[in-house]
Amino acid sequence: MEAKDLMEKAARFHGHICPGLAIGVLAVKYLLEHDFNYSPNEEVVAVVENDNCSVDAIQVLLGTTFGKGNLIHQDYGKSNYFFYNRETQKALKLSLNSNIFEKKKLSKHERVKYLLDSKPEKIFTIYEIEFNPPSLAEIEDSIPCDICGEPTMNSRLMFYKNSSMCIPCYKAQRK
Ligand SMILES: [Zn+2]
Ligand SMILES: [Zn+2]
Repeated sequence: MEAKDLMEKAARFHGHICPGLAIGVLAVKYLLEHDFNYSPNEEVVAVVENDNCSVDAIQVLLGTTFGKGNLIHQDYGKSNYFFYNRETQKALKLSLNSNIFEKKKLSKHERVKYLLDSKPEKIFTIYEIEFNPPSLAEIEDSIPCDICGEPTMNSRLMFYKNSSMCIPCYKAQRK
């Protein structure tokens, strides 16, 4: 698929066209050409080290989504993207190069065009990495919080002053 077409689809989901989204599009373009496909379930897992516009392109085009649990955000503020394909056991790391615009003064629109015309290999440093994906998302029972009564995932309940409570209630108790 052409970067332009991928961008159109991504922009429909993301809401606008921007250079960040184009970066995500380029990452997906590379993946689709290298043994990765759209993931209807959890075949593919993405681990991203930022939560900017680029991640929306990855969610909609690759099917690695927050809700399915096959998108994992590590809040490092870095432009690294890790992808694991459970079917082929292939794993890739795409790391955004610094100075991708080579100090050229470009408008936002020109940046998008420049990116979409670029080869992903020029924008990212790409590594084949060891296949060690995060484990599959677990379905957990929810238990009502002793304070607010709202169902809360068992593993997120805090035990404090002889009650099990959700994190917001725990924080309120500690004030
Ligand atoms: Zn954006
Ligand atoms: Zn509560």
